[in-house]
Amino acid sequence: MSLSLSAEQPDEPADADDGVWLECIECGETFAPFDDVRYTCDECDGLLEVRYADLPTFDDFDGHGVWRYADALPFAEGVSIQEGATPLYEVPRLEESIGVEALRIKHEGMNPTGSFKDRGMTVGVRVAKELGVDRLACASTGNTSAALAAYGSRGGMQTLVLLPAGKVAAGKIAQASLHGARILEVDGNFDACLDIVQELAGQGEAYLLNSLNPFRLEGQKTIGLEILEGFLADYDAVPDRIVLPVGNAGNTSALYKAFRELVQAGELDEDDVPKLTGVQAEGAAPMVEAIENDADEVRRWDDVETRATAIRIGNPVNAPKALPGIRETGGTAVAVSDEEITEAQRDIAGEGIGVEPASAASVAGLRKLRAEGVVDDDERVACLTTGHLLKDPDAAAAAGSEPEPVPADTDGVLEHLSE
Ligand SMILES: *Cc1c(COP(=O)(O)O)cnc(C)c1O
Ligand SMILES: [Zn+2]
Repeated sequence: MSLSLSAEQPDEPADADDGVWLECIECGETFAPFDDVRYTCDECDGLLEVRYADLPTFDDFDGHGVWRYADALPFAEGVSIQEGATPLYEVPRLEESIGVEALRIKHEGMNPTGSFKDRGMTVGVRVAKELGVDRLACASTGNTSAALAAYGSRGGMQTLVLLPAGKVAAGKIAQASLHGARILEVDGNFDACLDIVQELAGQGEAYLLNSLNPFRLEGQKTIGLEILEGFLADYDAVPDRIVLPVGNAGNTSALYKAFRELVQAGELDEDDVPKLTGVQAEGAAPMVEAIENDADEVRRWDDVETRATAIRIGNPVNAPKALPGIRETGGTAVAVSDEEITEAQRDIAGEGIGVEPASAASVAGLRKLRAEGVVDDDERVACLTTGHLLKDPDAAAAAGSEPEPVPADTDGVLEHLSE
């Protein structure tokens, strides 16, 4: 099967363009990458993946940020705002309290618009240019809309975003708005927004840039490549495990693809591939349910709720790519409560790192799995934090301390401090 770690590098089909093509993960049908707009397989509606005739080695990577990895991407450069090259922070207190050999936080909130979505958009908007489309669209829990608006305007294109009304954090709407997106607030949840955008895209109204779009995931592979290079530099070994929040499971799929390509290129041993470990909120955990039940398919949850709004998703579209990723790498999936998420957000903030609630789910999940003994104390782990604290100022203020009113004189302030 094409999604196995031991899959062979496929032969280049006649419809490849400069060594790049699309392949259906279900039936294996191949398609020319840039002739027509296409998001899923014409034959069976399966998800598509980008394939390359030549897979890069670590030596081929050169430069800074996402485009350092151009040899692993469909183009040499993209519509860029200097995305990627995010910090891989040491967090000694968290490492100690969770009890693992090494813990690093890969903070994707340090991207230009404050989330990892920028890595996908720099590639996706470049592809949109290649296809000659003029209007871009997405459904979003917030961060995709912020990234689409910024990269779309950078690329000189119109942007349309569909958001679940009342369920998007303030910072994200502000970004989409100022970067010039047309914002439609839908009376429904994220999954309903995505259903509508998929139909609009199918009717040719706009080019879809949700993670169903296989080119976005190519950009997001670079998270995995940066983590591996960072660990190799600091520990001379790749991490044993990567823990990440899961919404549509795009990142889970993208990291798995990055590792599969390195295995195929002979750059990474199959046994050394980091265990992909997904974390969801208890109120939106269809992937966890599928992993726990050893199910082939994910059941769509119609009612989802969590304060981690970025992962308030009941129908993870990339599940067919992500489930094999979790299973083949020996990883797992776990659900955490909103209270555990907020606690982890405070713990991460205590190391000077500000993340939004969904991001903190990774650390909350690691703590839980370590306590349950699923994660061993000798593991070296990377936790992915997906978005910046300022994305959701209301959640941050609610998790932090209350401002204290004082009079406008020093004696009054001193008196208050001594109370
Ligand atoms: C989009 C997003 C996620 C979910 O990522 P998937 O790739 O869809 O699983 C998690 N956290 C934040 C902050 C996001 O913006
Ligand atoms: Zn197919």
